[in-house]
Amino acid sequence: MPPIDVAPCTERLEPSRVLELADQLPGLIFQLHRSATGHLHFPLLMGSGIQLLELDPERLAENAEPALAHIHEADHPGLMANIERSARFGSPIILKFRFVITEARWRWIAVRAQPQRVETGVLWHGMMLDVSEQVAEEERLRALSDSDTLTGLANRRKLLSRLDEEISLSNRHAIPLSLMMIDIDHFKAINDTWGHLQGDATLCELADCCRSLLREEDLLARLGGEEFALLLPLTSRQNAALLAERLRRAIAEHHFDDLGPGRITVSIGITEHRVGDARDTLLHRADASLYRAKHQGRNRVVADG
Ligand code: GH3
Ligand code: MG
Ligand code: MG
Repeated sequence: MPPIDVAPCTERLEPSRVLELADQLPGLIFQLHRSATGHLHFPLLMGSGIQLLELDPERLAENAEPALAHIHEADHPGLMANIERSARFGSPIILKFRFVITEARWRWIAVRAQPQRVETGVLWHGMMLDVSEQVAEEERLRALSDSDTLTGLANRRKLLSRLDEEISLSNRHAIPLSLMMIDIDHFKAINDTWGHLQGDATLCELADCCRSLLREEDLLARLGGEEFALLLPLTSRQNAALLAERLRRAIAEHHFDDLGPGRITVSIGITEHRVGDARDTLLHRADASLYRAKHQGRNRVVADG
């Protein structure tokens, strides 16, 4: 076996060649300068990211604005606030933003930069890296952890976190918020008669049937088994009851594959958020309404209050 060469590499890079190397680096290295009057420009901008983002270093050396104009409008205020904070307190800039290439196409860029006070203002020394692939992977994993594998609806975890957000909004601004619990009637009998696979297909079809009647901001979740919850922001109890009745009828009239129409019905319980309600209070009241709907004979809607 040939001996393994463990001698350290002694070849040093000539300082003049460092600049060539910098141009091949993935991402960008930069200096950003802010004058006392707030004018921003990039005295230094190097790396292969220049081509990727189609930047013009000469122009940006004069004025950073053409690059800043590409920052996604949702990320622009955060970036500017970060720059401001960094300039004021000497803290590093650490954040991610979307760099818009065309209207529907952007790259996620992670930036880190250290500020230095200079006579003429503040000078940041930093790096930017294209992290679009990592962000896409994070989004894919988040979507996976938030959804029910059978129906593709949101799962209980997602419902609870959205419920917390909506309750907080409703408490702060006294805006209406309703919650619906939907449970399939005698589903055990469907499974017993038609088999578990057909039962699963019915759950998916019911999810599609409901989805087609909902708004973008409504959140339909499968809580488990044959039980679903529907969160309705900006919706009063009366309007939730109208929608519940539409859903109940659509399901009762739907021709479920192989089963025929009229074989699947649901019971629905509704409650509306009252200022100060905790999450569990709301869930408990919606459950109590559902229980009453079951008790009163199923295939019906019951709203509390
Ligand atoms: P009720 O009208 O009182 O709600 O009666 P039910 O039969 O629907 O309620 P019960 O809670 O007694 O039974 C629920 C059944 O749902 C039990 C089980 O067979 C079925 N089930 C639960 N999860 C799944 C699932 O993921 N797939 C299928 N196919 N069936 C499920
Ligand atoms: Mg049931
Ligand atoms: Mg049930």
